[in-house]
Amino acid sequence: MPRITLEQACANAATGSAEGRPYYDYLVVGAGFAGSVLAERLAAGLGKRVLLVDRRDHVGGNAYDHLDEAGVMVHRYGPHIFHTNAQRIVDYLSRFTEWRPYEHRVLAQVRDQLVPIPINLTTLNTLYGLDMDEAGAQAFLAERAEPVEPLRTSEDVVVSQVGRELYELFFRGYTRKQWGRDPSELDRSVTARVPTRTNTDDRYFADTFQIMPLHGYTQMFERMLDHPGIDILLSTDFAQVNQQIDRGHLVYCGPVDEYFGFQLGRLPYRSLRFEHKTLAQEQFQPVSVVNYPSEDVPYTRITEYKHLTGQQHTHTSLTYEFPSNEGDPYYPVPAPENAALYQQYKALADATPGVTFLGRLGTYKYYNMDQVVGQALALYQRLEAEHGEADAGAQTYASA
Ligand code: FAD
Ligand code: UDP
Repeated sequence: MPRITLEQACANAATGSAEGRPYYDYLVVGAGFAGSVLAERLAAGLGKRVLLVDRRDHVGGNAYDHLDEAGVMVHRYGPHIFHTNAQRIVDYLSRFTEWRPYEHRVLAQVRDQLVPIPINLTTLNTLYGLDMDEAGAQAFLAERAEPVEPLRTSEDVVVSQVGRELYELFFRGYTRKQWGRDPSELDRSVTARVPTRTNTDDRYFADTFQIMPLHGYTQMFERMLDHPGIDILLSTDFAQVNQQIDRGHLVYCGPVDEYFGFQLGRLPYRSLRFEHKTLAQEQFQPVSVVNYPSEDVPYTRITEYKHLTGQQHTHTSLTYEFPSNEGDPYYPVPAPENAALYQQYKALADATPGVTFLGRLGTYKYYNMDQVVGQALALYQRLEAEHGEADAGAQTYASA
């Protein structure tokens, strides 16, 4: 994958525009999953010339991983665990990586004990000193659950399943820290990501495929982007190239409100401050992620990467996550007023020819990695179909 400078991009690109400026078929902004998958497809599938730009100094977006100073593989932007039910997404990514099986398990520190989250039979028995079976756990929760109709908020979802005490122990504080607002002010979809179980299944996800790229995400991205049709321009903001590079089409995977100069107001994004640490010991905690739901602790969770990667090392590296309103935009905030503002930006986006918005920031959706890959592949299919129609049109014209 040719990594180039802006000067090289200008020199490399065919001069196709009327003004004689450098020209690419596609300018793709953002080298995360959205932009990288689309760039790969456009170059390898349609033979297009693509310039992929990112303001960061690396590809991979938030999934970027690397060896830290001690040589431990870490994720710069917090733990990224791949899980999906979609065979076609696994098939697509498998062109660029081998995998290692990994089933994610998380413990929560509650009342000075480490117990499984999602709440399951073991969680209940440990927390309450009981010895229930599955039917007992169902009855236990049914007794505590408070019916809520309709289920609207993130509080409603949990309280209606497990009752107020477990809601407060596991969800209220964590959510208030993570989002800077109460679960009663967040769409139900947020806490609905975490199931409740009455059996002993302690896996965080129930998806068919639970796998990690064998040599890490970054290597997978490097292979994905290793195509002569793709030029990569890092440490460069879209604003720096916008006026200099002409393109047939722009695909923008950054924040949609930023693209439009915040003209309708700011879409709220939640950020995180990551504190990375390396310890001279082999292991720090029993699983890769331990959640801290209490508001007395300022961070939400600690990740120990060796559990995710399977790496053997004398040292171990950790990341503490401190939620914040300042910093890079990581999470769109699912709430009715934000969805309404996004719809206004979407109307603006739909009315802007020559630009397509994609990805978690471009479409303001709390998407997992596999969903972003699915979204990029779906966009590619539409472009491919249009391309086919354009070709057919050109042939008709040529033969006329
Ligand atoms: P991003 O990865 O954010 O990429 C967008 C890129 O665009 C960035 O690199 C940015 O620098 C660049 N950019 C933006 N604006 C500009 C501009 N103006 N000019 C140039 N470049 C620009 N998903 C899972 O499936 N499993 C997980 O376990 C998981 N854990 C997560 C943990 C954390 C802490 C976070 C924040 C997210 C997690 N996710 C997880 C979600 C996952 O990160 C996203 O689904 C995925 O990375 C989104 O890809 P994307 O390409 O849309 O966006
Ligand atoms: N959550 C919580 N306590 C937990 C785990 C999750 O309250 O121990 C809530 C919290 O609001 C979080 C949401 O459930 O943002 C979704 O959790 P998930 O692990 O899916 O979030 P991710 O880290 O993947 O964004």
